[in-house]
Amino acid sequence: MWLGGNLTRTSERNSVLRNIILISLDTLRASSMSCYGHRNLTTPHLDALAEKSVLFEKCISPHIPTHPAHTTMFTGKDVLSHQIITQGGTLNLATDVQTIPELLSEAGYFTVAADNLGRWFQRGFPEAQYRGYQWETGYRKARKAEAVNQTAIELLDLAQAQDKPWFAFLHYWDPHTPYLPPLPFERMFYSGDECDPNNRSMDAVYTCEPFTDYFRQWMCTPDPADPDNIAKKRLWTDRRYVNAQYDASIAYMDACLAQLFRYLHDCGQLEETLLIITADHGEELDEHELWYDHHGLYETNCHVPLIVHCPALIHEGQRLGGLVRLTDIAPTILDYSGLTAVAEREKMEGASLRGLMEKGTHDGTTEGVYLTECGWMKKRGWQTQKWKLIVETGGTPAVYRTPDLELYDLEEDPDEVYNLAEEADDVVERLKADMAAFLQHRLSETGLPDPTVEQDITMRRIGDKSKAVPL
Ligand SMILES: [Zn+2]
Repeated sequence: MWLGGNLTRTSERNSVLRNIILISLDTLRASSMSCYGHRNLTTPHLDALAEKSVLFEKCISPHIPTHPAHTTMFTGKDVLSHQIITQGGTLNLATDVQTIPELLSEAGYFTVAADNLGRWFQRGFPEAQYRGYQWETGYRKARKAEAVNQTAIELLDLAQAQDKPWFAFLHYWDPHTPYLPPLPFERMFYSGDECDPNNRSMDAVYTCEPFTDYFRQWMCTPDPADPDNIAKKRLWTDRRYVNAQYDASIAYMDACLAQLFRYLHDCGQLEETLLIITADHGEELDEHELWYDHHGLYETNCHVPLIVHCPALIHEGQRLGGLVRLTDIAPTILDYSGLTAVAEREKMEGASLRGLMEKGTHDGTTEGVYLTECGWMKKRGWQTQKWKLIVETGGTPAVYRTPDLELYDLEEDPDEVYNLAEEADDVVERLKADMAAFLQHRLSETGLPDPTVEQDITMRRIGDKSKAVPL
């Protein structure tokens, strides 16, 4: 095997990597990336990197959206342990639940983050090494990923200028709403008139009550001569255009990531650094009439990319099936850092992916994944390779009109169009029993409350009516 200067020890199994980069691409669903089969070439640079990596075909974000998902990613624990189930709620992560930057910092790592989540996500980073970023917010002027790159590269320079091994967390936001990719990306996947008055495909979108003001602020083209005049803004009417803006935002971010990869290559860091690329959750476009946000425990939101790159140590060019989860990321990082004992001490629910990657096996780390959301809607679910059960837990506003019980056959119906809950009640009962047994076991193990029962949804309305274009 190849032994690089930054690797220590001699056998592959025991090799310890010196430096680690965890990249979270907020709101990037796997199915919209070309390396996961999307029809648009959205991610050519990530695709090229993935060819020299291990790509996990089925990584699940079990607890959506941003705050619960990143907490899961950072702690290796599920929501029943870390209790962070809502977005922006008042509950803070308990101090006895350690995050990966805290654990690595304790082990002597130099830790840096380009991130603006704040709260408990800054634990484990010295103040000067946890930096946010700002971008312009004018129409088509937000060059988000470039702003993140600038902060990221400053921090990576700092990390490389000192002697300790280092960990970097880099958080990109481009596919998050509002999708307003800069020129020339905006027209990359769309040609037509997005404001065609004869196109009625957006009518249902604008009537989605909690989001109507927000959508009418965002989904309109200003008059170039009078850009702030609401009366002169033209609402988008073509849903295909909104979908294309999501893809274009991804393509812009991908182009910016190429700059980061080039920087790492030029520094001699790309070969021997453990580089993990993932997303906190995906996005619902127009698939289930939940419209351009990340609620709904569907694959659009729960199926996220996971790419692990380190050609010096990890056999490249593998695509591994089997269910894995964001919960597995922290134990994987600790494994490659020679700190498996720390993962055990912290009683992480996730499992290291190292063995799967070294053996090239498609077993995944679990047979079933417990899913939750408690942001705009309140649901829980149970997912296996073949099935997904979604259960209303009380508290989802009626405006979303989602069924109380949903069952999808993910092998036959990967888009989750046909709800089989009524016709396959034997499967429903079996999955419900599996979920109940899991819950009972975990609740007695943690001795903590069930956060789905204990906590309320936090998201009810978005947007500024005074800035919304009239319908
Ligand atoms: Zn997010």
